[in-house]
Amino acid sequence: MERRNPADLREIASIMPLSTRPEACEAIAAAKAAFPAWRDTPAPLRGKILAQAAALMDKQKDALARTLCREEGKAVKESLAEVQRSIHILEFTAGEGRRMGGQTIPSECAKNVAYTIKQPLGVVGAITPWNFPIAIPVWKIAPALVAGNTMVLKPAELTPECAATIVQIFQGVGLPPGVLNMVLGAGEEVGDELVQSPDVRAISFTGSNEVGSHIYAFAARGMKKCQCEMGGKNPVVVLRDADLALATESVVLGAFGSSGQRCTATSRVVVENAIADEFVSRLVARARELKVGNGLEPDTDVGPLVDEQQFRTVLRYLEIGKKEAELLLGGNRLPGPAYEHGYFVAPTIFDHVKWDSVVAQEEIFGPVLSVIRVVDFEEALRVANSVKYGLSSSIFTNDARRIFDFIDRIEAGITHVNAPTTMSEAQMPFGGMKATGAGLREMGRVAIDFYTELKAVYIDYTSRPS
Ligand code: NAD
Repeated sequence: MERRNPADLREIASIMPLSTRPEACEAIAAAKAAFPAWRDTPAPLRGKILAQAAALMDKQKDALARTLCREEGKAVKESLAEVQRSIHILEFTAGEGRRMGGQTIPSECAKNVAYTIKQPLGVVGAITPWNFPIAIPVWKIAPALVAGNTMVLKPAELTPECAATIVQIFQGVGLPPGVLNMVLGAGEEVGDELVQSPDVRAISFTGSNEVGSHIYAFAARGMKKCQCEMGGKNPVVVLRDADLALATESVVLGAFGSSGQRCTATSRVVVENAIADEFVSRLVARARELKVGNGLEPDTDVGPLVDEQQFRTVLRYLEIGKKEAELLLGGNRLPGPAYEHGYFVAPTIFDHVKWDSVVAQEEIFGPVLSVIRVVDFEEALRVANSVKYGLSSSIFTNDARRIFDFIDRIEAGITHVNAPTTMSEAQMPFGGMKATGAGLREMGRVAIDFYTELKAVYIDYTSRPS
């Protein structure tokens, strides 16, 4: 398969062989064969391999960021941030090899000990999207491996070299053969084999709701453990007392960074009428300053969309938005020679968007921001919660009562106060509620829970006459 740079379609970003179902079966068999020895490798040693992978990734950071930029289109500074985040995840999860214990619990019976241990599941499958082609595979591989599982990774077809490089890094630090396998191929074939195979005990999926709900249903038939992290429609609420300079910077970063192709992107800003005019004019002025271009140029802020399909989808939403709301900025494909060979869309802001309109409800996955004006905090919260998704969220205010009320009532797996919706750290759980997420959370210490079975142990040491 030939992958072209979405910023310049004349450039080939990577060429990779696509695999089919029989190769997926071989990968599953290799993972199954490698499991007993990996399971018996002490967890601190498994963790050490992750730490070594982190160090090797750090050495390859610049090259890997450029690969990411060429394949996905993300600006090189954001690509570097993604690689750095992946290193943090590996470093943090390496330590779990020394911490991953169970609990000792008081027994009802005298001379009895009750405790729990965490044990690996066996072969686990990971199916990943193109938008964080390094960080997402890493945040699945790291907890799966440190917990003693073996894995078959099915990465997105659009970003094959990013995935291959991760696997090569693990090979480079001596991970035993068969512990981590990658099969690149069509979701309906290679991904489907992972979901259907009785030898795969769990599926960790990140991607669209359409595919995720299909996978969740199929995994249930095989009684497989399954976690699905899917779409988002993340709100930022800006109240009348907010620091507007801070809110402007955070919203623009959250909406247009990575061309809006993030599950945590800010796609709705819900603003109190009292400050709406001023805030909107600041937003437009700041968004105008963004430099859109080939991500390989160091001053680029916003790169292209990932492929033609994504490009057409976003252009379609722009036309819908023009009918539903007031267009303040962008709303079109970028013209001119600098953009003619790539999938470039202008950062777009719609104002006076109704909370129940299409652009306010559906995940667009592009550089498109909807401004929704409200009378007060209660209406803002209602609007923020009015979508089917529930991944990230944020509020800008200095009112402590409103802050705690928002944290309590916002329907999102992640929430921020006076910060962008897109921020997350390796040691914190990550995932959404409502239609965004099904199954246990990823990242942080809790990531291990998905990749382990909990065994309850009772030991009776009462002395009995022999
Ligand atoms: P997608 O669902 O089209 O594809 C994701 C993966 O599933 C790919 O590897 C694909 O090949 C595979 N796949 C497709 N059909 C399959 C099938 N029938 N069986 C098994 N596997 C199959 O998603 P995408 O377009 O790559 O990614 C964008 C989506 O991902 C957006 O909706 C975004 O919000 C979401 N996302 C969510 C999170 C999160 O943590 N919540 C993070 C990043 C991206």
